[in-house]
Amino acid sequence: DHLVNQIAAGEVVERPASVLKELIENSLDAGCRRIDVEAEQGGVKRLRVRDDGRGIPRDELPLALSRHATSKLARLQDLDAVASLGFRGEALPSIASVSRLTLTSRASQVDDTSDTGVSGWEVSVGIDGELDGPRPAPHPEGSTLDVRDLFFNTPARRKFLRSERTELDHLEQVFRRVALARPDVAMSLKHNGRVLQSLPSAETDPAGVSARLDRLLGKGFVDKALALEEAAVDLHLRGWVLQPAFSRSQADQQFFYVNGRMVRDKLVTHAIRQAYSDVLHHGRHPAYVLFLELPPRLVDVNVHPAKHEVRFRESRQVHDFLFSALHRRLSRGAS
Ligand code: ADP
Ligand code: MG
Repeated sequence: DHLVNQIAAGEVVERPASVLKELIENSLDAGCRRIDVEAEQGGVKRLRVRDDGRGIPRDELPLALSRHATSKLARLQDLDAVASLGFRGEALPSIASVSRLTLTSRASQVDDTSDTGVSGWEVSVGIDGELDGPRPAPHPEGSTLDVRDLFFNTPARRKFLRSERTELDHLEQVFRRVALARPDVAMSLKHNGRVLQSLPSAETDPAGVSARLDRLLGKGFVDKALALEEAAVDLHLRGWVLQPAFSRSQADQQFFYVNGRMVRDKLVTHAIRQAYSDVLHHGRHPAYVLFLELPPRLVDVNVHPAKHEVRFRESRQVHDFLFSALHRRLSRGAS
């Protein structure tokens, strides 16, 4: 089973950033209001994600680390309508098979403390894949996933890791993608003890969403952007697109979400780019943060667990909707 997990890890875990993505998605699925990320040496040495979500009861801790033991499928009536971000029950066992993983948690629903006085429980996975615990460990309501020495036991994979700087760039990109989509969740990122981001929840602060956009995309982004909101039958688009005059030469500020999930999709890119160049008459890269919502039955986001692909049932309709929404907004300009 350990080997099966390691093979699965090859699919899901490419680098520290892919671990971070899975851990953060789990935290969000657990309904957290805050996520704190700490990384050391680009996340290779250590990646720690703490949340204040609903936590995991003592008896379910070993299950969380075993293969295909998702707690989320039971809640799903229709696999097509996957609402939670993860549902395969593959991420944690995969990560655990290629690192030293410790999971500490305290469940909000279950009273674990009744007779032991303990405020949390911890399990870890040994080198051989053997489970150690649960043992008592202090923890506030929520969970902490501590992933150390990624790929220590798979030298072939370790070889593919890049410089600390590059791995950190990837971590920051994952952090940014989530932070843009979930301004309601407070988030922080530390690297080698240094605070890189500390974002309060925008729910308590009306200017919070703009402040967060500026923090993540560079000061002044909001001032130079056009806010956009368009709806058609079954389709709803909102977000920001940088005014063409401020468009950048680099292609790294393109964030597109489908039902809350960041995707990279040729059809989407094409529609936006076409609207942009129609209005702009030259080929600079558009910068945008856009959220498309549509009924789950009209989109398949389950193409590959680690990739950012989607398949629209009505791709022509989605393309034309995006194109005309962007075109209209860009033509209207800052007025
Ligand atoms: P999946 O997310 O696909 O269900 P994972 O391997 O990522 O599979 O996680 C396994 C299970 O562990 C989840 O279904 C969930 O029950 C539990 N879990 C993992 N992380 C957390 C967390 N941060 N808070 C609460 N439960 C968690
Ligand atoms: Mg998951």
